[in-house]
Amino acid sequence: MDSFVFRNPTKLIFGKGQLEALKTELPRGGKILLVYGGGSIKRNGIYQKTLSLLNEIGAEVHELPGVEPNPRLSTVHRGVEICRSKGIDFLLAVGGGSVIDCTKAIAVGAKYDGDVWEIITRKAEPSDALPLGTVLTHAATGSEMNHISVITNWETKEKIGWGSPLVYPRFSILDPVHTFTVPKEQTVYGIVDMMCHALEEYFSPSPNVPLQERFAESILTTVIETAPKLVSDLENYEYRETIMLCGTMALNGVLKMGMRGDWATHNLEHAVSAVYDIPHGAGLAILFPNWMRYMAEKGIAIGKFLPLATRVFGVNPAGKEEREIALEGIRRLRAFWSDLGAPARLADYGIGEDALDILADKAMHAGPFGRLRPLEREDVLQILRMSL
Ligand code: NAP
Ligand code: FE
Repeated sequence: MDSFVFRNPTKLIFGKGQLEALKTELPRGGKILLVYGGGSIKRNGIYQKTLSLLNEIGAEVHELPGVEPNPRLSTVHRGVEICRSKGIDFLLAVGGGSVIDCTKAIAVGAKYDGDVWEIITRKAEPSDALPLGTVLTHAATGSEMNHISVITNWETKEKIGWGSPLVYPRFSILDPVHTFTVPKEQTVYGIVDMMCHALEEYFSPSPNVPLQERFAESILTTVIETAPKLVSDLENYEYRETIMLCGTMALNGVLKMGMRGDWATHNLEHAVSAVYDIPHGAGLAILFPNWMRYMAEKGIAIGKFLPLATRVFGVNPAGKEEREIALEGIRRLRAFWSDLGAPARLADYGIGEDALDILADKAMHAGPFGRLRPLEREDVLQILRMSL
């Protein structure tokens, strides 16, 4: 194992009706910036319920609506401006990963004299942040219980993940009922994303991590068992609850104890959605099996792909060569996602051969990436070509 320190300060408030906890978790009479997306919370009533609870505690409420999926730097700037002009003292994100990520960037931006993009691009270290809490409405990213945020600069077509311990949410309210209205397609993207978080950690080069591998496998097998039932019964409380907890546990740091995952495919996906603005989970569904197949066909770290095949997807290894076992596991992963309705090709988004160079340039912006075996530009081009 690698040496590690584990500390996660986010208070997780999970279960039906937990929205009420806003009344005790938020400062009374505070100036609160309510951050949300394109309107789903108004259609399903979460917005109205939240506002009435905020009124009960005498909050002065300001709003930042319209956070985009793949949240943009320009929206972060708008939020920072409101915080400064209104003297906001607490940020409340109500939405999915995009709303939460945007709120995290606003939290540090409001306390930084320069442009928050300098923090996101790691040219500056944040030294302070406004406190934030979240009401999660979509199970996917784990952002509700981690210190990570992903922001897109649409002018420069860069999508960058950054993090700071200052932006762990103080609390996150997870009521599975809040996810009932997530459409099937979006539900599937969330399922793919949380599985990919477990997989990125699972393909860690760190030695001797048997417990961590089984943690990851337990998330994967639970999602595999539950997801097909959920997509044909979207308002089933128990399925929503199981998937919601899986999403949080896949990226709240527990799987990272003593190991550092690969994360090449997330970097590659960020390059694709920076240019084409496609849903994160959809991009991962296209790219992840191809990254795995590329590695397995080259015989790189083949031992890492075997337990996925045998322990997660139940491939019988008897009489098979290692590569054959690994490839069968990858085939079953692809089939699982396809059966759920996830896309499998870049062409599904109209992305063709002519885009490969620019996507490879974007992906390589900080040099070779991925820990299992760092990818060079030629590797990236081949994986993208396999994904066309
Ligand atoms: P999202 O972008 O937050 O939301 C996707 C869509 O789902 C939006 O259109 C949103 O509509 C809708 N939605 C959310 N809740 C809903 C509900 N209850 N009912 C109906 N519709 C609902 O999706 P996400 O997958 O959670 O976040 C994706 C972003 O997170 C990407 O930028 C990705 O790169 C990033 N990410 C972050 C981390 C991290 O650790 N921080 C990890 C992985 C990925 P409205 O806008 O109308 O609400
Ligand atoms: Fe992700």
